[in-house]
Amino acid sequence: MRNPASAPYTRLDLDSFTRRRLWEHVVTALEQHVTDVRTLPVAPRCEPCDVRSVLAGLSPDEPLAPEHGLQLVVDCMRTQQLHAAHPGYFGLFVPAPSAIAVIAEALAAGFNPQLASWSHAPFGVEAERWVVREVSRRVGLPRGGEGTITTGGSEANLTALLVALYRRYPRASIEGVHCLAYRPVFYVSAEGHHSWRKAARVVGLGSESLRVVSCDRSFRMEADALGGMLAEDRAHGLNPFMVVATVGTTACGAIDPLAELREITAAEGVWLHADGAWGGAAALSDAHRQCVAGLEHADSITLDAHKWMSVPLGAGLYLSRHAGALRAVFATNPHYLPAADADEAAAEPYQESILWSRRFNGLKVLMLLITAGWEGIAEAIDSTFRVGDALRRALVRHGWTPVNTTPLPVVCFRDPGAQAPDHHSAIVASVNHVGRSWISTTALGGTGDAIRACVSNHRTTVDDVDTLLEDLSQARARVRSRTP
Ligand SMILES: *Cc1c(COP(=O)(O)O)cnc(C)c1O
Repeated sequence: MRNPASAPYTRLDLDSFTRRRLWEHVVTALEQHVTDVRTLPVAPRCEPCDVRSVLAGLSPDEPLAPEHGLQLVVDCMRTQQLHAAHPGYFGLFVPAPSAIAVIAEALAAGFNPQLASWSHAPFGVEAERWVVREVSRRVGLPRGGEGTITTGGSEANLTALLVALYRRYPRASIEGVHCLAYRPVFYVSAEGHHSWRKAARVVGLGSESLRVVSCDRSFRMEADALGGMLAEDRAHGLNPFMVVATVGTTACGAIDPLAELREITAAEGVWLHADGAWGGAAALSDAHRQCVAGLEHADSITLDAHKWMSVPLGAGLYLSRHAGALRAVFATNPHYLPAADADEAAAEPYQESILWSRRFNGLKVLMLLITAGWEGIAEAIDSTFRVGDALRRALVRHGWTPVNTTPLPVVCFRDPGAQAPDHHSAIVASVNHVGRSWISTTALGGTGDAIRACVSNHRTTVDDVDTLLEDLSQARARVRSRTP
Protein backbone atom coordinates (compact mmCIF):
# COMPACT_ATOMS: atom_id res chain seq x y z
CA MET A 1 0.00 0.00 0.00
CA ARG A 2 1.32 3.42 -0.99
CA ASN A 3 1.04 6.55 1.04
CA PRO A 4 -0.66 9.37 -0.81
CA ALA A 5 1.89 12.14 -0.97
CA SER A 6 -0.12 14.71 0.92
CA ALA A 7 3.03 16.60 1.90
CA PRO A 8 6.44 16.45 0.29
CA TYR A 9 7.96 14.75 3.31
CA THR A 10 5.31 12.04 3.80
CA ARG A 11 7.31 9.58 1.76
CA LEU A 12 10.24 10.07 4.12
CA ASP A 13 8.48 10.18 7.44
CA LEU A 14 5.54 7.82 6.77
CA ASP A 15 2.51 8.00 9.03
CA SER A 16 2.33 6.89 12.62
CA PHE A 17 0.36 3.73 11.81
CA THR A 18 2.80 2.59 9.10
CA ARG A 19 5.79 3.42 11.24
CA ARG A 20 4.55 1.27 14.09
CA ARG A 21 3.83 -1.63 11.77
CA LEU A 22 7.32 -1.38 10.30
CA TRP A 23 8.91 -1.22 13.73
CA GLU A 24 7.05 -4.35 14.77
CA HIS A 25 8.22 -6.03 11.59
CA VAL A 26 11.83 -5.07 12.37
CA VAL A 27 11.55 -6.29 15.96
CA THR A 28 10.08 -9.61 14.79
CA ALA A 29 12.79 -10.09 12.16
CA LEU A 30 15.64 -9.27 14.56
CA GLU A 31 14.22 -11.41 17.35
CA GLN A 32 13.77 -14.31 14.94
CA HIS A 33 17.37 -13.91 13.79
CA VAL A 34 18.67 -14.15 17.36
CA THR A 35 16.63 -17.26 18.13
CA ASP A 36 16.96 -19.17 14.86
CA VAL A 37 20.28 -18.13 13.31
CA ARG A 38 21.73 -21.52 14.27
CA THR A 39 19.18 -23.22 11.96
CA LEU A 40 20.51 -21.29 8.95
CA PRO A 41 23.59 -22.36 7.00
CA VAL A 42 26.50 -20.34 8.46
CA ALA A 43 27.50 -19.30 4.96
CA PRO A 44 24.47 -19.60 2.69
CA ARG A 45 25.43 -20.58 -0.82
CA CYS A 46 24.84 -17.67 -3.13
CA GLU A 47 26.34 -16.81 -6.47
CA PRO A 48 27.09 -13.26 -7.58
CA CYS A 49 24.20 -13.54 -10.07
CA ASP A 50 21.76 -14.38 -7.24
CA VAL A 51 22.63 -11.16 -5.46
CA ARG A 52 22.79 -8.98 -8.55
CA SER A 53 19.51 -10.24 -9.95
CA VAL A 54 17.66 -9.07 -6.82
CA LEU A 55 19.19 -5.63 -7.12
CA ALA A 56 18.58 -5.52 -10.87
CA GLY A 57 14.86 -5.75 -10.10
CA LEU A 58 14.95 -2.58 -7.97
CA SER A 59 14.75 0.97 -9.19
CA PRO A 60 14.47 4.35 -7.48
CA ASP A 61 12.17 5.31 -10.34
CA GLU A 62 9.62 2.78 -9.13
CA PRO A 63 9.69 2.83 -5.32
CA LEU A 64 8.31 -0.09 -3.33
CA ALA A 65 5.79 0.08 -0.51
CA PRO A 66 7.88 0.36 2.69
CA GLU A 67 6.83 -3.06 4.02
CA HIS A 68 7.86 -4.69 0.75
CA GLY A 69 11.21 -2.95 0.81
CA LEU A 70 11.72 -4.03 4.41
CA GLN A 71 10.82 -7.68 3.76
CA LEU A 72 13.08 -7.78 0.72
CA VAL A 73 16.06 -6.57 2.75
CA VAL A 74 15.36 -8.97 5.62
CA ASP A 75 15.19 -11.89 3.16
CA CYS A 76 18.48 -10.86 1.54
CA MET A 77 20.21 -10.47 4.91
CA ARG A 78 19.12 -13.99 5.86
CA THR A 79 20.08 -15.69 2.61
CA GLN A 80 22.85 -13.59 1.08
CA GLN A 81 25.42 -13.10 3.78
CA LEU A 82 27.61 -15.07 6.10
CA HIS A 83 26.12 -15.34 9.61
CA ALA A 84 28.90 -14.54 12.04
CA ALA A 85 26.23 -14.64 14.78
CA HIS A 86 25.84 -18.39 14.12
CA PRO A 87 27.53 -20.29 16.98
CA GLY A 88 29.25 -22.47 14.35
CA TYR A 89 31.13 -19.48 12.98
CA PHE A 90 34.79 -20.11 13.86
CA GLY A 91 35.97 -17.32 11.65
CA LEU A 92 37.49 -13.88 11.75
CA PHE A 93 36.87 -11.59 14.68
CA VAL A 94 33.26 -10.69 13.85
CA PRO A 95 31.08 -11.04 16.95
CA ALA A 96 27.50 -12.04 17.52
CA PRO A 97 26.16 -8.63 18.51
CA SER A 98 24.73 -8.46 22.02
CA ALA A 99 21.04 -7.51 22.14
CA ILE A 100 21.51 -4.39 24.21
CA ALA A 101 24.08 -3.08 21.74
CA VAL A 102 21.72 -3.60 18.81
CA ILE A 103 19.10 -1.63 20.73
CA ALA A 104 21.70 1.10 21.30
CA GLU A 105 22.30 1.22 17.53
CA ALA A 106 18.62 1.92 16.91
CA LEU A 107 18.67 4.70 19.51
CA ALA A 108 21.81 6.25 18.02
CA ALA A 109 20.20 6.28 14.59
CA GLY A 110 16.80 7.48 15.77
CA PHE A 111 18.00 10.34 17.95
CA ASN A 112 20.93 10.93 15.59
CA PRO A 113 23.06 13.15 17.83
CA GLN A 114 25.99 14.90 16.14
CA LEU A 115 28.96 14.12 18.36
CA ALA A 116 31.39 16.41 16.54
CA SER A 117 30.76 19.13 19.05
CA TRP A 118 29.77 19.33 22.71
CA SER A 119 27.18 22.02 21.92
CA HIS A 120 25.18 19.55 19.81
CA ALA A 121 25.37 16.48 22.01
CA PRO A 122 26.44 17.11 25.61
CA PHE A 123 25.23 13.66 26.69
CA GLY A 124 26.79 11.81 23.76
CA VAL A 125 30.13 13.57 24.04
CA GLU A 126 30.41 13.06 27.79
CA ALA A 127 29.16 9.46 27.46
CA GLU A 128 31.96 8.60 25.02
CA ARG A 129 34.51 10.19 27.35
CA TRP A 130 33.06 8.07 30.14
CA VAL A 131 33.48 4.92 28.01
CA VAL A 132 37.10 5.88 27.24
CA ARG A 133 37.80 6.42 30.96
CA GLU A 134 36.14 3.19 32.09
CA VAL A 135 37.85 1.01 29.50
CA SER A 136 41.22 2.72 30.13
CA ARG A 137 40.91 2.04 33.83
CA ARG A 138 39.90 -1.57 33.25
CA VAL A 139 42.89 -2.31 31.01
CA GLY A 140 45.14 -0.74 33.64
CA LEU A 141 46.13 2.58 32.09
CA PRO A 142 46.87 5.34 34.62
CA ARG A 143 44.29 8.04 35.25
CA GLY A 144 44.69 11.26 33.32
CA GLY A 145 45.28 9.75 29.90
CA GLU A 146 43.07 10.25 26.89
CA GLY A 147 41.38 8.42 24.07
CA THR A 148 38.76 8.49 21.41
CA ILE A 149 36.06 6.18 20.10
CA THR A 150 36.89 5.21 16.52
CA THR A 151 35.04 3.47 13.73
CA GLY A 152 37.30 0.48 14.30
CA GLY A 153 40.87 -0.73 14.62
CA SER A 154 42.07 0.72 11.34
CA GLU A 155 41.13 4.25 12.40
CA ALA A 156 42.60 3.67 15.87
CA ASN A 157 45.87 2.47 14.31
CA LEU A 158 45.98 5.43 11.93
CA THR A 159 45.37 7.71 14.90
CA ALA A 160 48.26 6.11 16.78
CA LEU A 161 50.57 6.52 13.80
CA LEU A 162 49.71 10.23 13.52
CA VAL A 163 50.13 10.82 17.25
CA ALA A 164 53.49 9.04 17.43
CA LEU A 165 54.78 10.76 14.29
CA TYR A 166 53.81 14.33 15.14
CA ARG A 167 54.74 14.01 18.77
CA ARG A 168 58.23 13.15 17.62
CA TYR A 169 58.29 15.72 14.80
CA PRO A 170 55.90 18.57 15.64
CA ARG A 171 57.28 20.58 12.71
CA ALA A 172 56.21 17.87 10.27
CA SER A 173 52.56 18.50 11.16
CA ILE A 174 52.97 21.95 9.57
CA GLU A 175 55.64 21.54 6.94
CA GLY A 176 54.96 17.91 6.04
CA VAL A 177 57.11 14.83 6.40
CA HIS A 178 59.28 15.86 3.44
CA CYS A 179 60.78 18.60 5.66
CA LEU A 180 62.52 15.93 7.74
CA ALA A 181 66.21 15.34 7.19
CA TYR A 182 65.87 11.68 8.21
CA ARG A 183 63.23 9.31 7.02
CA PRO A 184 60.80 8.35 9.81
CA VAL A 185 60.24 4.59 10.11
CA PHE A 186 58.16 2.35 12.36
CA TYR A 187 58.21 -1.35 13.20
CA VAL A 188 55.57 -4.07 12.99
CA SER A 189 56.01 -7.84 13.14
CA ALA A 190 55.69 -9.99 10.02
CA GLU A 191 52.36 -11.18 11.47
CA GLY A 192 51.08 -7.62 12.10
CA HIS A 193 47.85 -6.26 10.64
CA HIS A 194 47.67 -4.93 7.08
CA SER A 195 46.04 -1.70 8.28
CA TRP A 196 49.57 -0.49 9.18
CA ARG A 197 50.63 -0.60 5.56
CA LYS A 198 47.55 1.38 4.58
CA ALA A 199 48.12 3.87 7.41
CA ALA A 200 51.71 4.44 6.19
CA ARG A 201 50.34 5.25 2.75
CA VAL A 202 47.54 7.46 4.05
CA VAL A 203 49.99 9.53 6.08
CA GLY A 204 52.27 9.90 3.07
CA LEU A 205 55.17 8.08 4.71
CA GLY A 206 54.93 5.34 2.12
CA SER A 207 54.78 1.64 2.83
CA GLU A 208 58.57 1.40 2.91
CA SER A 209 58.50 3.35 6.16
CA LEU A 210 56.96 0.23 7.68
CA ARG A 211 59.84 -1.98 8.79
CA VAL A 212 58.83 -5.63 9.09
CA VAL A 213 60.38 -7.46 12.04
CA SER A 214 60.78 -11.23 11.90
CA CYS A 215 58.87 -13.57 14.21
CA ASP A 216 59.97 -16.52 16.31
CA ARG A 217 58.48 -19.99 15.96
CA SER A 218 55.46 -18.91 17.98
CA PHE A 219 54.82 -16.08 15.49
CA ARG A 220 55.77 -13.41 18.04
CA MET A 221 57.99 -10.48 17.16
CA GLU A 222 61.65 -11.30 17.86
CA ALA A 223 62.80 -8.64 20.30
CA ASP A 224 66.46 -9.25 19.43
CA ALA A 225 65.75 -8.80 15.74
CA LEU A 226 63.97 -5.53 16.54
CA GLY A 227 66.95 -4.32 18.57
CA GLY A 228 69.27 -5.14 15.70
CA MET A 229 67.09 -3.41 13.10
CA LEU A 230 66.77 -0.26 15.19
CA ALA A 231 70.55 0.04 15.48
CA GLU A 232 71.14 -0.70 11.83
CA ASP A 233 68.41 1.64 10.60
CA ARG A 234 69.75 4.50 12.72
CA ALA A 235 73.20 3.83 11.30
CA HIS A 236 71.68 4.17 7.82
CA GLY A 237 70.11 7.53 8.62
CA LEU A 238 66.58 6.33 9.22
CA ASN A 239 64.63 7.68 12.16
CA PRO A 240 62.61 5.16 14.19
CA PHE A 241 59.60 6.76 15.91
CA MET A 242 57.25 3.87 16.80
CA VAL A 243 57.15 0.16 17.50
CA VAL A 244 53.85 -1.70 17.21
CA ALA A 245 53.36 -4.68 19.49
CA THR A 246 50.60 -6.87 18.12
CA VAL A 247 48.57 -8.23 21.01
CA GLY A 248 46.73 -11.09 19.34
CA THR A 249 47.73 -11.44 15.69
CA THR A 250 44.97 -11.90 13.15
CA ALA A 251 46.21 -15.22 11.82
CA CYS A 252 47.04 -17.07 15.04
CA GLY A 253 46.57 -14.87 18.12
CA ALA A 254 50.29 -14.46 18.85
CA ILE A 255 51.13 -11.88 21.51
CA ASP A 256 54.35 -9.96 20.97
CA PRO A 257 56.69 -9.86 24.02
CA LEU A 258 55.36 -6.68 25.61
CA ALA A 259 57.85 -6.41 28.47
CA GLU A 260 60.88 -6.75 26.20
CA LEU A 261 59.45 -4.32 23.67
CA ARG A 262 58.70 -1.82 26.45
CA GLU A 263 62.30 -2.05 27.57
CA ILE A 264 63.67 -1.51 24.06
CA THR A 265 61.33 1.36 23.18
CA ALA A 266 61.99 3.10 26.51
CA ALA A 267 65.75 2.90 25.96
CA GLU A 268 65.39 4.13 22.37
CA GLY A 269 62.88 6.88 23.16
CA VAL A 270 60.39 5.39 20.70
CA TRP A 271 56.57 5.28 21.03
CA LEU A 272 55.18 1.82 21.87
CA HIS A 273 51.75 1.14 20.44
CA ALA A 274 49.88 -2.04 21.38
CA ASP A 275 47.60 -3.20 18.57
CA GLY A 276 45.15 -5.23 20.62
CA ALA A 277 42.22 -4.78 18.26
CA TRP A 278 41.00 -8.26 19.12
CA GLY A 279 43.30 -9.71 21.78
CA GLY A 280 43.43 -6.56 23.92
CA ALA A 281 39.98 -7.41 25.24
CA ALA A 282 41.53 -10.26 27.26
CA ALA A 283 42.54 -7.46 29.66
CA LEU A 284 38.86 -6.92 30.46
CA SER A 285 38.70 -10.31 32.21
CA ASP A 286 40.23 -10.79 35.66
CA ALA A 287 40.76 -14.46 34.86
CA HIS A 288 42.67 -13.84 31.61
CA ARG A 289 44.25 -10.41 31.95
CA GLN A 290 47.57 -12.13 32.62
CA CYS A 291 47.76 -13.28 28.97
CA VAL A 292 48.23 -9.70 27.84
CA ALA A 293 50.22 -8.42 30.84
CA GLY A 294 52.21 -5.35 29.90
CA LEU A 295 49.51 -3.98 27.60
CA GLU A 296 48.97 -1.24 30.18
CA HIS A 297 52.58 -0.05 29.83
CA ALA A 298 52.17 0.85 26.15
CA ASP A 299 52.05 4.52 25.17
CA SER A 300 48.83 3.86 23.28
CA ILE A 301 46.46 0.96 22.65
CA THR A 302 44.02 -0.09 19.93
CA LEU A 303 41.05 -2.07 21.23
CA ASP A 304 38.03 -2.88 19.07
CA ALA A 305 34.66 -3.03 20.79
CA HIS A 306 33.23 -4.60 17.64
CA LYS A 307 35.37 -7.70 18.00
CA TRP A 308 35.63 -9.40 21.38
CA MET A 309 33.23 -7.06 23.18
CA SER A 310 30.28 -8.29 21.12
CA VAL A 311 28.94 -5.01 19.82
CA PRO A 312 27.87 -4.48 16.19
CA LEU A 313 30.27 -2.93 13.68
CA GLY A 314 31.71 -0.39 14.04
CA ALA A 315 33.25 0.76 17.27
CA GLY A 316 36.88 0.79 18.29
CA LEU A 317 38.97 2.59 20.86
CA TYR A 318 42.24 4.45 20.72
CA LEU A 319 43.53 4.79 24.29
CA SER A 320 46.66 6.50 25.55
CA ARG A 321 48.45 7.34 28.78
CA HIS A 322 49.52 10.72 27.37
CA ALA A 323 46.97 13.53 27.61
CA GLY A 324 47.05 16.27 25.01
CA ALA A 325 48.67 14.25 22.24
CA LEU A 326 45.45 13.91 20.22
CA ARG A 327 44.82 17.63 20.35
CA ALA A 328 48.33 18.35 19.13
CA VAL A 329 47.50 16.40 15.97
CA PHE A 330 43.86 17.21 15.33
CA ALA A 331 43.07 20.66 16.75
CA THR A 332 41.83 23.13 14.16
CA ASN A 333 39.81 26.32 14.47
CA PRO A 334 37.20 26.51 11.75
CA HIS A 335 35.99 30.10 11.29
CA TYR A 336 32.42 28.97 10.68
CA LEU A 337 31.96 27.52 14.16
CA PRO A 338 30.92 29.53 17.22
CA ALA A 339 33.68 29.67 19.82
CA ALA A 340 33.00 27.14 22.56
CA ASP A 341 33.33 28.11 26.22
CA ALA A 342 36.31 26.69 28.09
CA ASP A 343 34.56 23.59 29.44
CA GLU A 344 33.02 22.71 26.12
CA ALA A 345 36.23 23.39 24.26
CA ALA A 346 38.00 20.92 26.50
CA ALA A 347 35.65 18.23 25.27
CA GLU A 348 35.27 18.92 21.56
CA PRO A 349 35.62 15.52 19.87
CA TYR A 350 36.42 17.01 16.48
CA GLN A 351 39.55 18.54 18.02
CA GLU A 352 40.71 15.09 19.10
CA SER A 353 40.05 12.79 16.16
CA ILE A 354 40.15 12.40 12.41
CA LEU A 355 36.39 12.83 12.04
CA TRP A 356 34.14 15.84 11.98
CA SER A 357 30.59 14.40 11.77
CA ARG A 358 30.55 11.74 14.41
CA ARG A 359 27.98 9.01 14.92
CA PHE A 360 27.25 7.96 18.50
CA ASN A 361 29.21 4.70 18.17
CA GLY A 362 30.15 4.77 21.84
CA LEU A 363 26.51 4.36 22.89
CA LYS A 364 26.48 0.61 22.24
CA VAL A 365 29.58 0.22 24.40
CA LEU A 366 28.09 2.37 27.13
CA MET A 367 24.81 0.47 27.16
CA LEU A 368 26.65 -2.85 27.28
CA LEU A 369 28.83 -1.61 30.15
CA ILE A 370 25.99 -0.22 32.24
CA THR A 371 23.71 -3.24 31.78
CA ALA A 372 26.02 -6.29 31.54
CA GLY A 373 28.78 -4.70 33.63
CA TRP A 374 32.39 -5.82 33.56
CA GLU A 375 31.23 -9.08 35.07
CA GLY A 376 28.92 -9.83 32.15
CA ILE A 377 31.52 -8.87 29.57
CA ALA A 378 34.22 -10.91 31.31
CA GLU A 379 31.89 -13.93 31.51
CA ALA A 380 31.42 -13.84 27.75
CA ILE A 381 35.17 -13.51 27.14
CA ASP A 382 35.97 -16.27 29.64
CA SER A 383 33.49 -18.56 27.93
CA THR A 384 35.27 -18.16 24.58
CA PHE A 385 38.56 -19.04 26.32
CA ARG A 386 37.01 -22.21 27.75
CA VAL A 387 35.54 -23.24 24.41
CA GLY A 388 38.86 -22.42 22.72
CA ASP A 389 40.70 -24.74 25.13
CA ALA A 390 38.12 -27.47 24.50
CA LEU A 391 38.61 -27.00 20.76
CA ARG A 392 42.40 -27.33 21.06
CA ARG A 393 42.08 -30.54 23.11
CA ALA A 394 39.46 -32.02 20.78
CA LEU A 395 41.64 -31.35 17.73
CA VAL A 396 44.56 -33.23 19.30
CA ARG A 397 42.27 -36.08 20.30
CA HIS A 398 41.05 -36.37 16.72
CA GLY A 399 44.52 -36.51 15.24
CA TRP A 400 45.05 -32.93 14.11
CA THR A 401 48.29 -31.08 14.82
CA PRO A 402 47.94 -27.58 16.33
CA VAL A 403 50.72 -25.30 15.05
CA ASN A 404 50.24 -22.20 17.22
CA THR A 405 50.64 -21.81 20.96
CA THR A 406 48.64 -18.74 21.97
CA PRO A 407 46.52 -18.77 25.14
CA LEU A 408 43.83 -16.90 23.15
CA PRO A 409 40.95 -18.90 21.65
CA VAL A 410 42.25 -19.26 18.11
CA VAL A 411 43.73 -22.55 16.91
CA CYS A 412 45.68 -23.13 13.70
CA PHE A 413 46.18 -26.76 12.84
CA ARG A 414 47.19 -29.20 10.15
CA ASP A 415 46.38 -32.73 9.08
CA PRO A 416 49.64 -34.65 9.57
CA GLY A 417 48.55 -36.81 6.62
CA ALA A 418 48.36 -33.85 4.23
CA GLN A 419 49.74 -34.57 0.77
CA ALA A 420 48.61 -32.11 -1.89
CA PRO A 421 49.25 -28.35 -1.49
CA ASP A 422 45.47 -27.74 -1.54
CA HIS A 423 44.82 -30.42 1.11
CA HIS A 424 43.80 -27.96 3.85
CA SER A 425 41.85 -25.59 1.65
CA ALA A 426 39.90 -28.60 0.29
CA ILE A 427 39.04 -29.66 3.84
CA VAL A 428 37.92 -26.14 4.71
CA ALA A 429 35.75 -25.89 1.60
CA SER A 430 34.18 -29.24 2.43
CA VAL A 431 33.39 -28.26 6.05
CA ASN A 432 31.96 -24.90 5.03
CA HIS A 433 29.85 -26.58 2.35
CA VAL A 434 27.99 -28.59 5.00
CA GLY A 435 26.89 -25.28 6.47
CA ARG A 436 27.01 -26.15 10.19
CA SER A 437 30.39 -24.49 10.80
CA TRP A 438 32.63 -21.95 9.13
CA ILE A 439 36.43 -22.05 9.26
CA SER A 440 39.21 -20.68 7.08
CA THR A 441 42.80 -21.27 6.05
CA THR A 442 45.69 -19.02 6.90
CA ALA A 443 49.25 -18.82 5.68
CA LEU A 444 51.43 -18.85 8.75
CA GLY A 445 54.63 -16.90 8.25
CA GLY A 446 55.91 -18.79 5.24
CA THR A 447 55.29 -22.19 6.86
CA GLY A 448 52.42 -22.91 4.47
CA ASP A 449 48.66 -23.23 4.80
CA ALA A 450 47.02 -24.21 8.04
CA ILE A 451 43.36 -24.45 9.01
CA ARG A 452 42.25 -21.70 11.36
CA ALA A 453 39.37 -21.86 13.83
CA CYS A 454 38.70 -18.94 16.15
CA VAL A 455 36.05 -18.85 18.86
CA SER A 456 34.84 -15.34 18.22
CA ASN A 457 31.23 -15.72 19.26
CA HIS A 458 30.12 -15.67 22.90
CA ARG A 459 27.27 -18.05 22.00
CA THR A 460 29.58 -20.83 20.80
CA THR A 461 29.60 -23.88 23.10
CA VAL A 462 31.46 -27.19 23.31
CA ASP A 463 28.55 -28.77 21.43
CA ASP A 464 29.42 -26.54 18.49
CA VAL A 465 33.02 -27.72 18.82
CA ASP A 466 31.79 -31.34 18.60
CA THR A 467 29.84 -30.51 15.44
CA LEU A 468 32.91 -28.86 13.91
CA LEU A 469 35.10 -31.87 14.76
CA GLU A 470 32.55 -34.23 13.21
CA ASP A 471 32.50 -32.28 9.96
CA LEU A 472 36.29 -31.93 10.00
CA SER A 473 36.76 -35.71 10.34
CA GLN A 474 34.42 -36.41 7.44
CA ALA A 475 36.04 -33.76 5.28
CA ARG A 476 39.50 -35.14 6.05
CA ALA A 477 38.44 -38.65 5.08
CA ARG A 478 36.97 -37.35 1.82
CA VAL A 479 40.00 -35.29 0.94
CA ARG A 480 42.49 -38.01 1.90
CA SER A 481 40.70 -40.48 -0.38
CA ARG A 482 40.68 -38.14 -3.41
CA THR A 483 42.17 -39.75 -6.46
CA PRO A 484 45.16 -37.59 -7.33
C1 LIG B 1 40.91 -6.35 13.13
C2 LIG B 1 42.26 -5.82 13.40
C3 LIG B 1 42.62 -4.53 12.99
C4 LIG B 1 41.71 -3.66 12.17
O1 LIG B 1 40.56 -3.33 12.88
P1 LIG B 1 39.19 -2.99 12.12
O2 LIG B 1 38.27 -2.71 13.23
O3 LIG B 1 38.85 -4.19 11.33
O4 LIG B 1 39.46 -1.80 11.27
C5 LIG B 1 43.87 -4.07 13.32
N1 LIG B 1 44.74 -4.82 14.01
C6 LIG B 1 44.45 -6.08 14.41
C7 LIG B 1 45.46 -6.87 15.18
C8 LIG B 1 43.18 -6.62 14.12
O5 LIG B 1 42.89 -7.86 14.53
